[in-house]
Amino acid sequence: MAEERFPQLGLSRLRMATDGKGVTTLVAGAGCPLRCEWCINRRLLAEKTPEWVSPETLFERTRVDNLYFQATGGGLCFGGGEALLHTAFVAAFRPLTGGAWKLTAETSLHVPEQTLAAALTCFDDFIVDIKSMDANVYRRYAGGDAGLVLRNLKTLVSSVPPERVRLRVPLIPGYNDEADQQNSEALLRELGFMQIELFPYVIKDEPPAAGREAPSPVTG
Ligand code: SF4
Repeated sequence: MAEERFPQLGLSRLRMATDGKGVTTLVAGAGCPLRCEWCINRRLLAEKTPEWVSPETLFERTRVDNLYFQATGGGLCFGGGEALLHTAFVAAFRPLTGGAWKLTAETSLHVPEQTLAAALTCFDDFIVDIKSMDANVYRRYAGGDAGLVLRNLKTLVSSVPPERVRLRVPLIPGYNDEADQQNSEALLRELGFMQIELFPYVIKDEPPAAGREAPSPVTG
């Protein structure tokens, strides 16, 4: 069987409080099934090509913070694009850590149900970029199917303790408003989620004609 590889776009060490509990290294990967207007991943891909790394290479690049991870309950957060596309890689990577690092997925949950089922067994925590629970807003902004996300949210809430899931609901300039944000939050609470963060995308510049500029960090 061919060795799993991860399309690494970047790596950010010693993060605190942004990717969950503990000291975290964010590993940004390429690839996503969605096409969000304000996507930082698409901008990164326009600037550089990913480097395809093996589990052993990624471990060598991140093990320098092993003691911090173990002392604080932190570890790696896979994000940048859609982390769940790399579930097989993370399954191969996890044994190298001795099971001592927390592995977090930044995800939109816009993936096939069987992909989420596999991810449930190899990621510890999930940070979900909700965008909007409104199907029209979701289709217009991200080009995706909110129904698929809803099905996966139901699977997630029935499979993972609520303290291991964080949901982020943005105010998206030009696409939704605070009422839509609050509707999304209410639906998510009805489903049983507890950690829900409402925040605004901050657009720094108008998008260039040939691509899109990024707002504040966009995940999943
Ligand atoms: S889900 Fe995230 S990575 Fe994918 S297109 Fe949207 S912002 Fe970009």
